[in-house]
Amino acid sequence: MFDVAIIGYGPVGSIMANLIATKGYKVLIIDANQGTSPTARAINTDGEQCRTFDLLGFADEVVSNSGYIDKVSFTDAELNEIITQDQPLEVGAMGWPPQLLFYQPELEKIIRTSVESKENIEIKESTLLESFKTESDKVILNCTSNGESINFESKYLIGCDGASSSVRKLLNIERDDLGYDQDWLVADAHLTKTTDIPKHHAKQICNPKRPATYVPGRRGHRRFEFKLMPGESKEELESEEKVWELLSPWINPNNATLERADVYQFHAALAKTWRIDNCLIAGDAAHQMPPFMGAGMGTGIRDAMNLFWKLDLILSNKAEDSILDTYQAERYPHAKWTVAQSVSIGKIIEGLCAQQEGKEFTPDDNEGYGVKFPHLPSGLYKDASDDISGYPCPQPLLIRNGSKELSDRIVGSKFTIFTKNAIPKLTKKAEEIVKALDIQIIEFTDKDDEENRMSKIFETYKLILIRPDRYVYGGIESLDNSSDIIESLESTFSLKI
Ligand SMILES: Cc1cc2nc3c(=O)[nH]c(=O)nc-3n(C[C@H](O)[C@H](O)[C@H](O)COP(=O)(O)OP(=O)(O)OC[C@H]3O[C@@H](n4cnc5c(N)ncnc54)[C@H](O)[C@@H]3O)c2cc1C
Repeated sequence: MFDVAIIGYGPVGSIMANLIATKGYKVLIIDANQGTSPTARAINTDGEQCRTFDLLGFADEVVSNSGYIDKVSFTDAELNEIITQDQPLEVGAMGWPPQLLFYQPELEKIIRTSVESKENIEIKESTLLESFKTESDKVILNCTSNGESINFESKYLIGCDGASSSVRKLLNIERDDLGYDQDWLVADAHLTKTTDIPKHHAKQICNPKRPATYVPGRRGHRRFEFKLMPGESKEELESEEKVWELLSPWINPNNATLERADVYQFHAALAKTWRIDNCLIAGDAAHQMPPFMGAGMGTGIRDAMNLFWKLDLILSNKAEDSILDTYQAERYPHAKWTVAQSVSIGKIIEGLCAQQEGKEFTPDDNEGYGVKFPHLPSGLYKDASDDISGYPCPQPLLIRNGSKELSDRIVGSKFTIFTKNAIPKLTKKAEEIVKALDIQIIEFTDKDDEENRMSKIFETYKLILIRPDRYVYGGIESLDNSSDIIESLESTFSLKI
């Protein structure tokens, strides 16, 4: 019997499987297809995801194979800039570049190499999940492969099976529709010669006759998106002749090859329920958003980071099953904000298109690019009013054996305490929790964190407790409360200690 069966070997399923396998569990991955995605969909990610990649050992490889964007503009039809936002480039508080432009088939290959190096992951490709049956302590999966029926048993099932998720449908889970359905042609091309199209400047072209998006990917990869206009058909827009006509202001067959051009329907929707008993959903199975913010895959990777350590606590008998209720409670509002924010960028494009036609439009400052992701709404010591709790903890550089090291590489994915002072003697209960959860206590010296990534936090708190997903659980102003914050983990995460 497997500990966890994952349906879907896309970016989210492969990261989920990889994270759970790092804890030593027996993982099964099932996918109807064979091989990595032949083409790119996701193209952009951020420093928070790099921390997940680094936990799995391949962040450096992803970074070295990625490009960057230094500006994003909303322009008129002639590409005159209406709004431009500079993008930060330097390594930020997360300890990694704040944004990366990658090529999805390459990224998937990097992730899969890591997955396939783990002996405790079994992969069944060309295998379709047909149905499943849940029992109190297991799920029985019924699959077909090459026309034959095969059954698997697993303690938990996670559907990372994309937007049309079979797991979600088989569980009869409905979706909250945020009301944004638009058809766009997505074209990926690769430059074969040097051209003068921007290398690092992304553009949302607010042309009322044809809104479009241009994103320069890594090396010669270029992404173009064109909205399907009323009266046009998918087939018409996907024809090679039409695609080259749309691309003609940018590239042509003499300087680029076309990888593909397909019409996608952009949606904004969230599954109403993310867990039923021992079945869960994550990634596009749980949420879908238009791609304007480049955050769909990242939202799924956040789901995986939120879930894997909770499953570890259950499977190692340290937490009650009810810890899984915190998964949707924490992730749904965060994902809903991301979906709504992505829609808001679509609305800015529409508003600026209307402005070109003489209508009034003023974009809201709280929308668009450059906004900060929200905090987790729960799973915290107190609340997030301190602007620290519920956010990913910055990643300081610590001096170890005379050289600077990323703190994540020292603490891994465990509960961790950061403090500048020795903590006083803990209560027996707190000691037991520290031992059971193997809480790492990192006492900073004056030489640590020369980059001052932790300054704001240490101005507010004497000690902070960080969750295994690197989100700040909470902080305390007096070390006398050290035992309280540790003991509070018991009720927050249904610990069995
Ligand atoms: C045009 C476009 C641009 C985008 N840009 C970005 C971006 O820049 N950044 C970003 O973060 N996100 C972006 N996204 C979103 C991103 O591509 C998705 O969020 C991400 O790919 C979802 O990954 P996933 O693993 O959840 O699902 P998928 O990648 O869809 O994988 C699901 C897998 O499940 C398998 N499967 C399905 N049903 C079954 C079954 N019954 N049995 C067995 N296997 C099954 C499928 O074969 C598939 O391999 C973009 C999306 C689009 C369309």
